[in-house]
Amino acid sequence: MIVILKKDISQEDLDRLLQKLRQYDCSYLLYENGEPILRIKSKQNVLTKDFFLTQPGVENVYRVTPAYDLAARKSQDQETSIQTGDSQINSRHFTVIAGPCAVESEEQILGIAQKLASSGIHYLRGGAFKPRTSPYSFQGLGIEGLKLLRKAATQYRLKVVTEAVSSSDVEIVSEFADIIQIGTRNMQNFRLLKTAGKQKKPVLLKRGMNATLEEFLLAAEYILQEGNPGVILCERGIRTFETATRNTLDISAVPLIKQMSHLPMFVDPSHASGKRSLILPLSRAALAAGADGAMIEVHNQAEHAKSDGPQSINFETFDELLASLKEIAHVLGKQLQ
Ligand code: PEP
Ligand code: MN
Repeated sequence: MIVILKKDISQEDLDRLLQKLRQYDCSYLLYENGEPILRIKSKQNVLTKDFFLTQPGVENVYRVTPAYDLAARKSQDQETSIQTGDSQINSRHFTVIAGPCAVESEEQILGIAQKLASSGIHYLRGGAFKPRTSPYSFQGLGIEGLKLLRKAATQYRLKVVTEAVSSSDVEIVSEFADIIQIGTRNMQNFRLLKTAGKQKKPVLLKRGMNATLEEFLLAAEYILQEGNPGVILCERGIRTFETATRNTLDISAVPLIKQMSHLPMFVDPSHASGKRSLILPLSRAALAAGADGAMIEVHNQAEHAKSDGPQSINFETFDELLASLKEIAHVLGKQLQ
């Protein structure tokens, strides 16, 4: 942190400030030519920006290191690789997580799981607890949905990705899921983040639809801080003035997050666009921009889907998508899975 001191700071105020720094074991350098400036190396959040801003004799404060520590790129040498059973999510692969918006019936989820397995996909998604904007919309099958997901995944040797919408769901969801999803509406549900951080399963954290990238990484920090290193980030579109798409896919978030953090970064083109016709081009863009994977809504009968039918692709489009991603992955030296 850089603390610009007032030119006329009293010796007494300066001494008090320096004493505080020594008390909290913060190393510092004081430059006194021209305007007095303190350059401080503080242990994470021991003395905050707000603390310095409220001290007499302080003109301004600038952070030079990010507010998130564990999620920051420089906090570890290697990029994070997430192991679930025999599958790995990391930057050597482009991992496709696919499946319906919601688990609707045994027949539906088994049919979709069979298709995904035959296409070489490792991860099955499907909501059992659904965060719906309207209380009149289909809310998901709950625990019954979790059981159906597990059954389909076991039968076709897939891994389950499904959402927990509140901290009270985390325990039951982690019993059935391989990866717990936290949705856009819950990105700043700090109690849910902490609960997810206390259990062992990896967490796929979606970006809040109105969150900055710093807020996104601070949300990830909540999970990491509780001792769970398995966080996957997912850009799923943000709210803008544009109404032609459901949200606006912030594609620059992909390379930026890869520069800012060591965590794997996914893109969800389905919720970003809300439009079936955009899933293929946006998935290609995600891979080309450096994403480590995509989460895509696929349905066996999209026209009858109980939620998010207009953005769900059918099996034929899914095949076309995989063929196209395979070619791009090959050019980038990544393996599609
Ligand atoms: C979902 O993936 O089913 C979902 C509800 O996504 P989001 O939280 O991004 O809206
Ligand atoms: Mn959906």
